[in-house]
Amino acid sequence: MKLTPRQEEIIRLVKEGQPVTSEALASKLGVTRAALRPDLAILTMIGILDARPKVGYIYSENPSRGLLYDYITNIKVKDIMGKPVFVDEETMVYDAIVYLFLNDVGTLFVQSDGYLIGVVSRKDFLKIAIGGTDIHKVPVGIIMTRMPNIICVQREESAYDVARKIIEHEIDSLPVVEKVVDDEGKEQYKIVGKISKTNITKLFVKLENE
Ligand code: ADP
Repeated sequence: MKLTPRQEEIIRLVKEGQPVTSEALASKLGVTRAALRPDLAILTMIGILDARPKVGYIYSENPSRGLLYDYITNIKVKDIMGKPVFVDEETMVYDAIVYLFLNDVGTLFVQSDGYLIGVVSRKDFLKIAIGGTDIHKVPVGIIMTRMPNIICVQREESAYDVARKIIEHEIDSLPVVEKVVDDEGKEQYKIVGKISKTNITKLFVKLENE
């Protein structure tokens, strides 16, 4: 992000005499406090300055943390989500594994009547496969993780929210959902997309290119 000459000047003044109040900055720059407010808001938002209540502004030693945080909180799920891959709960584990390979994904979402009911991923398949069960005879409904234990996101949440959920819940992929009320008045979730570790990693590669 390119700073304006006035923003550069504010940073110089803060570094020189920190902590510096907004009144002091305004008087040194010969402008009103109101005129300075947008610049101070930008500099604190991107993490270059730290605003301490009743103390003033100080220079942040680690501005890149603020920039990165700013970057990933501004990107919304809807901007980076991909297409979900579904199966029915009656699908046999063997067929679901084949489907997983064909679609080159690690997680399948399970839906019934168009609503999210489960998630099944590589570890679930490995677990049943090493148990010696006939995977042609077991449906995914038996081995999937079920609602309400599924961690979801909504379109308007940020890439940071996704990254936090992935780490907190130790999962690879989340369904992007829209909350709806069904004919019986029950809250349900429609799957509108998918977001995974890969989408978040791509953001970092894009950041470097930009
Ligand atoms: P993998 O099995 O490929 O390592 P995960 O780490 O995402 O993938 O899955 C680990 C476990 O978490 C599996 O039992 C899976 O059913 C479950 N799981 C996967 N995604 C979710 C999710 N969004 N919410 C809740 N549980 C999930």
